[in-house]
Order: sequence, then C-alpha cells, then structure tokens
Amino acid sequence: MASFKHLIREEIRALSAYHVQPAKGMVKLDAMENPYGMPDAIKADIGSLAANAEINRYPDPMASELKDQLRKVMGIPAEADLILGNGSDELIQIIAMAVAKPGATLLAPEPSFVMFRMIATFCGLKYVGVTLRDDFSLDEPAMIRAVEEHKPAVTFLAYPNNPTGNLFDAGAIGQIIKASPGLVVVDEAYFAFSPASFLSELQRYPNLLVMRTVSKLGLAGLRLGLLAGAPEIIDELEKLRLPYNINVLTQQVAVRVLQDYAMLQSQTAQICADRTLLFEALQGIPSVHPFESQANFVLFRVPSAMAVFDALKRRGILLKNLSVAHPLLFDCLRVTVGTGEENETFLNALRDLVANN
Ligand code: PMP
Repeated sequence: MASFKHLIREEIRALSAYHVQPAKGMVKLDAMENPYGMPDAIKADIGSLAANAEINRYPDPMASELKDQLRKVMGIPAEADLILGNGSDELIQIIAMAVAKPGATLLAPEPSFVMFRMIATFCGLKYVGVTLRDDFSLDEPAMIRAVEEHKPAVTFLAYPNNPTGNLFDAGAIGQIIKASPGLVVVDEAYFAFSPASFLSELQRYPNLLVMRTVSKLGLAGLRLGLLAGAPEIIDELEKLRLPYNINVLTQQVAVRVLQDYAMLQSQTAQICADRTLLFEALQGIPSVHPFESQANFVLFRVPSAMAVFDALKRRGILLKNLSVAHPLLFDCLRVTVGTGEENETFLNALRDLVANN
C-alpha cells in the first residue's frame, strides 16, 4: 500500500499528540477541573435551554450576549476589545497563526503550559524556551536577554503558571512587556484562584493581551476562552477566527451559568480553602515537598515519583506525572484540588504509599 505520510510536515510527524489520560471511574485529579457540578436550578435551566435551542441554525457569529456577560462578570476594561475562542487553546493558535511570518519566534518560560511550544510548531514559528529559576520564579535578566536576542513576535506568560502554580513577579512581567518588540500574552487561565491580574494594565501597554478561560472556573466542557486587548490587534485576530467557533449550546449555557457568577465564586473560594488544607497536609507527609500554589492544583516532589504515580493510579487516583516533562520538575507530580473527600482519598493513599516505600 502506498503511504502518503511524507506529505505531512516533518515537524508535525516529530510531535507526540497532547496526551489525555483515560480517566473513567477514577478519582480525577489530573486536569485542573472544578470538581463541583451545577446546582439543580441551573441544571433545569440548562435542560430547557438545550431543548429549545435552535440547533438547526448557526450560532450568533459574534456571540454578543456572551461577550457582554463575560465583560460584566470579569470586569474587562471598556477600552479593550474581546475575542472568544473554542477554549483558550484556540486563542493561542489564532495568535500564533497571526504572527507566523517566516522566521518569527514564540517565546515562553519553561516549564510552562506545553501547548505554547506545540502550537508554535503547528504554525511554523520558531520556539524559544527560557528556563525558570530553581524556585520556579521568572529569570528576569534571562528573559530580557532572550527578548533582545530573539525579538519574539509573541511571548506567553501563564499567570499563575502551569504546572508550577506560582505567580510570577508582576514587576518582572512589566519589564518584559516594556522590553518586548512583540505581543505579550498574560495567560490568566487560573485567575479564579489567584489574587492578581493584568487586566488593569491593558491601558498602559499596547502590546499586552490578557487571556482567560472558563475551563477552570467550572465550565471546562463548554470550551470557551477569551482574549482582551487593544482593538487594533483584536480586529486582526478576528479575521483568523473561524466563523461560528462558539457553538449555540456553549453560548446559551455559558450566559445562563455566568448569571450566577456568585455561585461559581463560592465554589472557587472553597477550592482555594481546600488548596491550603491540601498543601499543609502534603507538607506534613515525610519526604513529600509541595510547592506553594495560587492555582487550583499543587505541584509536589516525592521520591520515586513515577512509582508513586503508578501506585496511585492502581488505587484509582489519577494525577499528572510531570517527572520527565522538564529537568526542573524531576520527581514532580501535580494534583488538582478536588472535593474535600477526593483530597482525603488521595492524601490517605499517598501517606500509605510513602510509609510503605
Ligand atoms: N493556559 C493554561 C496555562 C492552561 O493550563 C490551560 C489548560 N490546561 C489552558 C491555557 C487551556 O485551557 P482551555 O483550552 O481549556 O481554555
């Protein structure tokens, strides 16, 4: 049989697909999801919205009602424009496509969200990763040097960072934005669990874009991300957005759920309180070293992370194993903050494994 694989670009053939672990029946603490479902009243409304949605029609291409609602609940500055994505992953891709001139560079600190590097490859951009310091803080001089040397068309900074959980120094980010000849995207995927944001800086820096997602807030299944920035940039990105990328059901359900934003905020407040308990409990386990987090997960180091990960999995508890993802993450696992009960199940299993190792 003839093979046509050679038609695929070499750099794509060299990639491994973004790996999603099978999770059926597991205590699922691998993907930074909110563990709480919707209250019954909202579920009932979602049911009737779905029943009455005109799924024979294309959705509102501009998703105007949803954008208004997002602006309101998130306090997007009036001067900024907004573009929506099918998840913030799609927005990263739109930005990368927009700047992908021959020889253009995408820069990001490492370790960070793996899609920055992958999408750079998808779009034919050169990728430059700048290693974080051992404590996962931004190496500001190294970042500035890399900006000056590579003149990235776009730099991505996850704030808080995934998978380390920390917030980079805001002053260092400001210096990077000022030194950058290109766009700087502050990716606030975990804004709901963190005290800080760059939204109010949009006015100050014309090359700054702030990206968010509703995924970690409790709506990962809807696939909805947003990007705020100067109208002159957002207008151009809009040309790359495929028509109707936010489907009818996502638009309607998101509008409905966001009307009860206070409910989501009480869930995220609970997750933050449980994050503190989880962190302290991990600190109390001999030979386990957790890192402070401003997100809805905790990264921790444990001797023989691979074995611990596998043993937890055998007990039905799914984490993310990062021990081979980057040298700075050696022996590191990442646990998403679940319900109190899920966290206890995980902690008890870990205590047991560490004690019997
Ligand atoms: N940015 C960061 C830093 C993330 O960790 C993630 C999800 N893991 C995303 C963006 C993508 O989120 P989504 O596509 O669900 O909006």
